Amino acid sequence: MNIGAYTFSQFNEIAEKFHGYAAPGLLVGGYMVELAKGLLPEETLFEAVVETGKCLPDAVQLLTLCSTGNRRLHIRDLGLYAVSLYDKKTGVGVRVSIDPAKLYAYPEIRGWFMKEKPKQAQDVEELEREIEQAGHCICKVQRVQIDKEFLGHGHMGTVSVCSCCGEAYPLEHGSQCLGCQGQAPYTTLDPEA
Ligand code: ZN
Repeated sequence: MNIGAYTFSQFNEIAEKFHGYAAPGLLVGGYMVELAKGLLPEETLFEAVVETGKCLPDAVQLLTLCSTGNRRLHIRDLGLYAVSLYDKKTGVGVRVSIDPAKLYAYPEIRGWFMKEKPKQAQDVEELEREIEQAGHCICKVQRVQIDKEFLGHGHMGTVSVCSCCGEAYPLEHGSQCLGCQGQAPYTTLDPEA
């Protein structure tokens, strides 16, 4: 089964270039995203919320105009392999997930998805063959109304220069930037200037 405009092997190549390798999750994710896209009314300006940080966000970024950088791709990491595409104004959309009950016909997909097989025991060729054969037939679809917090984007208010580090930051964060308020994800290794 094709993945949108791509053949399975074309998508496999694109996935490898973007993701480092053609992860099974990305291949399955391709079918999930295309299924969801096809269920939205044509011309819908949509955004995406993904319920895992693994693989699936990259399927969205490869097959839609939603990216984390343009803030149209949201990640709410619940550890669930599911993606919703929704009208960015109304929040109405579709959620696509994998239905474990539909995996019995696909032992390699099941072994991989349910982590029943260690990675070394996986037959990658057979797994990819099953993924292509199954396409979106292993998916579950729900109509959903996405929560308000994912609609619209807050705009950055006044920008100020941090009195501590001298970098520009949103003034609404206080008299110093959040980094200087203890939230920086690093400690600097350079000697103090
Ligand atoms: Zn600062």
